[in-house]
Amino acid sequence: MAINQRSVVEANGAAIPVLGFGTWQLEGDVCAEAVQTALACGYRHIDTAQVYDNEEAVGQGLAGSGVARDEIFVTTKVWMDQMEEARLQGSVELSLKKLGLDHVDLLLIHWPNPDVPLKETMAALSEVKRFGMARHIGVSNFPVATMEEAIALASEPLVTNQVEYHPGLDQTPVLEACRRNGMALTAYSPLGRGDLLSDPVLVEIAEDHGKTAAQVMLRWLIQQEGVAAIPRSGNPAHIKSNFDVFDFSLGEEDMDRIFALAEPGGRMVDPEWAPHWD
Ligand code: NAP
Repeated sequence: MAINQRSVVEANGAAIPVLGFGTWQLEGDVCAEAVQTALACGYRHIDTAQVYDNEEAVGQGLAGSGVARDEIFVTTKVWMDQMEEARLQGSVELSLKKLGLDHVDLLLIHWPNPDVPLKETMAALSEVKRFGMARHIGVSNFPVATMEEAIALASEPLVTNQVEYHPGLDQTPVLEACRRNGMALTAYSPLGRGDLLSDPVLVEIAEDHGKTAAQVMLRWLIQQEGVAAIPRSGNPAHIKSNFDVFDFSLGEEDMDRIFALAEPGGRMVDPEWAPHWD
């Protein structure tokens, strides 16, 4: 079988590197070093958020890496208490200041907030893009109906919906909706927060390919049309090995065995403010 060497997902004008680096729960020097390690290993897509409280550390990692700014795809996310028009732009200005950047490549609404009209939030998000503070915009944790409402309300194209996606969780409705709308699905918690690493099916497939269960999960994700993944690690060996997924591919049988692992209770990130999921 031909090995899929696709390095980006094309989505409504954006070229999103298919494998990014997540930074949730990485802070301070540990975070800055992890970002530098990721960039040295070849990652060109870094994911942060206002609420992670690490935008400064991510900025230090970017600056210290020696990699040219225009080679790196940087995402941040606007937190739920900054969704009003009067706040959103100011919050992005602060994010850029902390990151040490004049723009991000992708700016996401972190979670839907039913207390603020979506029309207002999408207008403010679109405006921030027009001002050049973000090259692309999108959403995160949006169920299909809310995502399609957001698309209709935004005056600029949305390029991704960042949602939880790993072998334990079926995301077919969201993935199909993203594909229908020319958007990517960015898979967060792609390793099931580490909990799926000892799954016997994944371990067996990994052994067959001389790979790790983490590499198999990431390969399974990025082999799906329109899917990017953003694993997180604070461990340099894991950061490196998680990027080493471009020299093998999974056949249809392996892909299907992994699809069959999804379970109704497979969702791991489900806070009290979560929307009604698809
Ligand atoms: P994840 O990437 O699925 O898993 C991270 C866990 O797996 C860590 O405990 C890490 O430990 C371990 N790990 C990573 N690589 C490993 C390897 N090769 N071998 C063994 N263990 C390994 O979890 P996540 O952080 O929840 O998700 C990834 C990113 O998605 C986040 O960092 C964040 O950027 C984003 N995210 C977004 C949202 C949202 O609401 N939009 C929500 C959740 C996450 P070590 O550090 O020891 O390697």
